[in-house]
Order: sequence, then structure tokens, then C-alpha cells
Amino acid sequence: MVTISAKRKGGSYRIKFLMITTYLCAGIIPLFLFTAVVFKATESYFMEEKKKELLNQANIFSGHITISGYITNSDMRYAFGRDIRVTSEQGGYRIIVTDDMGFVLDDSNGTETGKIIMIPEIIEALETKDVAKEQKNGDIYAVASIVDESSKKIGTVLIVYSPKDIQNIIDGIKKPVYAMTVLIACIVLCFVLVLSHAITGPLSRLMEVIKKISEGHFDERMVVDANSRNEIMQIGAAVNNMAEKLDEVETSRQNFVSNVSHELKTPLSSIKVLSEAILLDSEAPKEMYIEFLRDINSEIDRMTEIINDLLMLVKLDQKEIPVTFKTESLNLVIENIIKMLRPLANNKNINFEYSAIKEVSAEIDRTKLTLAISNLVENAIKYTDNDGKVKVVLDCDHQNAFITVSDTGIGMAEEEIGKIFQRFYRIDKTRDRETGGTGLGLSITHSTILMHNGSIKVTSRENEGTTFVVRIPLINNI
Ligand code: ADP
Repeated sequence: MVTISAKRKGGSYRIKFLMITTYLCAGIIPLFLFTAVVFKATESYFMEEKKKELLNQANIFSGHITISGYITNSDMRYAFGRDIRVTSEQGGYRIIVTDDMGFVLDDSNGTETGKIIMIPEIIEALETKDVAKEQKNGDIYAVASIVDESSKKIGTVLIVYSPKDIQNIIDGIKKPVYAMTVLIACIVLCFVLVLSHAITGPLSRLMEVIKKISEGHFDERMVVDANSRNEIMQIGAAVNNMAEKLDEVETSRQNFVSNVSHELKTPLSSIKVLSEAILLDSEAPKEMYIEFLRDINSEIDRMTEIINDLLMLVKLDQKEIPVTFKTESLNLVIENIIKMLRPLANNKNINFEYSAIKEVSAEIDRTKLTLAISNLVENAIKYTDNDGKVKVVLDCDHQNAFITVSDTGIGMAEEEIGKIFQRFYRIDKTRDRETGGTGLGLSITHSTILMHNGSIKVTSRENEGTTFVVRIPLINNI
């Protein structure tokens, strides 16, 4: 037996590739996407909180300005200017105070003081409500309107905040989280690689074996653990089983061909020898001619018998012969067989008995079953010495008919019993040449019984006799 060891072949890489792609699509990409979405959500949350906080600060400032009369009272300007700068430094943002026309009254940076800034957020705060918005560059503008005692909007407080610290916090978390994600991805990738190897390894071995078998190497086998529940191993076991069957079929085909050749060669050689003898001896007397021609004729009969049996078997195998199952009386079928073979038994002075225990009707193909049972009865007579006994019994239960053919003949050794249904198998070839067997009769019987969905059992003892029990279902469910 040739056993394939683990070898990598192109075919398995496709599955490996598929597994890794699936892993990337279903595992890694969503993992990274999820991490990115979490960070984005965290960032948005922090930004919203910051906007609220800055708007609050702007409102507090606007309240201070109203109370202190900073816009209306120029004496307060210096003190308030200092306040703005201190608060700006502490808060880490820039504070700009404008009047209701966008004129910058004070800027914690000092650069815009005296200029006009009319950004949409200031307009919105003056016209509708206070607002905090994120800018394209990432800065947050929070604008609160300043109102006088009569609730008239007289200016705005603009806080400009560059959210570097939020970014720093997020970046600080991002690094370890991404590192963790990459680590998890690597570990899972290693698992996937090991797993895919564990799957593709046996698969490629299986592929190799199947390829070899398809090339005709039926002795090829996959090493499998018979108790494994692994599907690949189970496929492997099934493939081994299939190879086993193919091997058997191939061996029996070869045996069959060699048996056929051998069986036909023997009578052909005899014919050749006999005809040559006549041809070479032109002076031979007429009696010799007649005798040789009689021999040639009987060899031709033998060949015809073999060929007819073979044709019958081949047809049975190919299910070529039309099968016509009809409900028939088995009593009648067997009575006819007995009638037909009684002269044969009488010739050997054999006590030939038939008893039908019940009236039995079954769905059968009459012609084929007649042939199958005749073979058994004929064998019983053939392999029983003169003055012996052959008995045929027909019986049934509520499901099956039983036909028993027993004899008190030469019997057979136990080890032979399993082989007698094989084609051309004869226990003693020389004995059979005398009795005229082809070794095909029981094969035909066996195939026919199987065709009837039945079974056949044999018990035998050397020099004591043989019993064949045929079971045929009364109703054929094929
Ligand atoms: P054959 O045509 O040679 O009889 P079969 O297929 O009918 O071939 O039988 C196969 C072999 O089984 C025979 O050669 C014979 O040796 C053995 N056999 C069959 N039936 C009997 C029997 N009733 N008693 C003893 N041997 C038998």
C-alpha cells in the first residue's frame, strides 16, 4: 500500500487565501473600523462638552461686562482688559470682545483690537442666539451676546479655542489602543494561519490520494484515524473505502477476463489437438473420425455453455434483461423444476423429494427464478453420489418465501463456502470437468436472488451434504 505524506499543492492555497481574506474582511477590518469609530465618537463627545463649557465661559464674561458697564464705562477698561488676559491665560483660550457692529473692543492676544470682525457666529449671536461652532481648522468659536440693562444686545464675547488638549488626550489613548488592536489582529492571524494549515494540510493529502486513484492507482490510501469525527478524516475514510471497492472491482475484472480466457482456451486447445490429429492422419479409419468429431462437438457444446452463462451474467449485471415481476405460485414454479430435473436424479438413482409446507405466492420473475433454483437443484444432484438423497422444501412466513435445497452429497470445506458464488469458482476443477460445470451457475443464482431482493445461505459439511436456503420476499419493493 502506498501512503501519501503531507505535501503542499497549489489547490490548498486557494482555501488558505480564502480563509485569510475572510478573516481580514470579517475580523481585522471591522476591528479597526470599530476602533476608529469609537475614537471619533469620543472626540465628538469631548468637543461637544468643550463647546458647552466655552459657551458657558462666554456667558459668564458677557454677564461681567454687563454688570461692570465695561462697554459704556471707559474707566473700567484697563481693569477689565487685565481680567480678560488673566482668564484667557488660565482657560487656555483667546477672548475677543466686540460691540454690536463687530468692532473689536478688546482681544486677549491684542492683535485684533480696533479692527472689525463680522464672522457668522457673531452675527448669529447678535441676531438670534448664542452659539458655539467648530471651524474647518478644528478651532471652536463660542460667541455669547452682551446685553445692557434694557436687554438690548450691545456686543459679543468671542472665545477662540484650539482643542489641542482634547487631541492630546485622544492621541494619548489612541496609541495603546491601536497597539492592542494590532496585537490582537496578529494573534488572531497566527490562529487563522495555524487553523488553515490544519485544514488545508489533510485536504491537500486527500487531493493527492484522489488524484492518484483517478489515475488508476487503486492501492493508494489516505492515513486516517478511524475514530476521528473530523469531517476531512471522514471524507478520507470514505475515499479509502471507495478505493478499496475500486480495487476489488478491478481485481475481479482482471480475474474475470483471465478466467474467461482460460476457460475458453481449454476447449479450444482440445479442438485444435483433435482436428490436427485428424488432419495429419489421412488414413485414419472412419470410426476415429466420428469419435474425434464427437469430442470436438462436445467441446463446442461446453464453450457454448460457458458463453451462454457468461452472457446471462453480463446481462444480469447490466440489468439489461427486462425484469417482469408478477405474483406467481412458487409451488408451481418448483414443481416444474422438479419435473424437469427428475430424470437427472433418476439416472443416479437419487431419492429426489419435494415437499411444499404451504401454498406460497410471491412477486417474482418466473423465468429467472426458475433458472436460479434449477441451478441449485441441478448442483445438488450433480454433487451427490448415486443412491444419495436430494430434498427440496418450500415454506413461507408472512413476509418471505423460503426454498431449501439439501443433499447428502460430497459437501464442501468451510473455507470454500464463501467463495462458491464467485465467477468461475469451482472447488475441484478436475471433478468439475467430469461433471461439466462452468463455475458460473451459482453466480447467476446469486445475482438473480439479489435482483429479487432476497438472500441465499449455505451450510455444508464435507462428505455429509449441503443445504442452500433461499429467501425471497413475498412482496417485492424494488
Ligand atoms: P458449476 O457449474 O461448476 O457447478 P457452480 O457455480 O454452480 O458451478 O458451483 C460452484 C462450485 O460450488 C462447484 O464447482 C462445486 O464445487 C460447488 N458446489 C455447488 N453446489 C454444490 C453442492 N450442492 N454440493 C457440493 N458442492 C457444490
